[in-house]
Amino acid sequence: MSTMMVAGNWKMNASTLTNTDLTNALVAGAATLTNVQMVVFPPAPYLGQVQELLADSAIALGAQNVSDKAQGAYTGEVSATMLKDFGVKYVLVGHSERRSLYGESDAIVAAKFKAVKTAGLIPVLCIGETLAQREAEATLDVVNGQLQAVIDLVGVAELATAVVAYEPVWAIGTGLTASPEQAQEVHQAIRAYLATQDAAVAEQVQILYGGSVNAATANELFAQSDIDGGLVGGASLDAQAFLAIGQAAQS
Ligand code: PEP
Repeated sequence: MSTMMVAGNWKMNASTLTNTDLTNALVAGAATLTNVQMVVFPPAPYLGQVQELLADSAIALGAQNVSDKAQGAYTGEVSATMLKDFGVKYVLVGHSERRSLYGESDAIVAAKFKAVKTAGLIPVLCIGETLAQREAEATLDVVNGQLQAVIDLVGVAELATAVVAYEPVWAIGTGLTASPEQAQEVHQAIRAYLATQDAAVAEQVQILYGGSVNAATANELFAQSDIDGGLVGGASLDAQAFLAIGQAAQS
């Protein structure tokens, strides 16, 4: 991968006031960044606001969730084409909070991935093991299984133009970060798994690491050969911290 990506998942933290301050600071600070694609994922009601704030910037807009359905009688749902209408380019699917708190199965995640692709947007497919699964040495079975559920529905070729985010569940929002070696080991294994099905896809797919990434840990993580950037939660709410992670991705 030539261009690294640093993606900020704001989760359910936003207001029109804080969005303005945060986005304006990001736009100003990101103007000097090169060779790194910055992306922000605000909560859905604010996509229009953040789209306008990002208008003259290279920072891309992302959404945190999407319906697996195209349109119709699905109260409360937001379709991929609606997201596209607001200038969204990237969509998180299968974030561990969606999987664990909202019961999203591998099948639902795969259907959402397909809906995002069908609308011409780029899914950021989140995969990762719990602490118990890591301790049971099941990490690779878990992440490969999560990947395979998507491949079974859409075919491996669709992964070439998607983003995968490896996010160990035990590292999300906990302050615990996988060591660069632990992260690299899984990223390499993900690429090797994909290579058994399509070598070109394995090479092209962009694989981000997520899990308590901050300015202090980003440099070493991003220096790993199979890590193509980061998906950042908590630190993405602080403009200077998020920009510092963007700078780490450049070097
Ligand atoms: C995330 O929500 O995807 C994430 C990685 O969060 P944090 O950086 O806060 O661990």
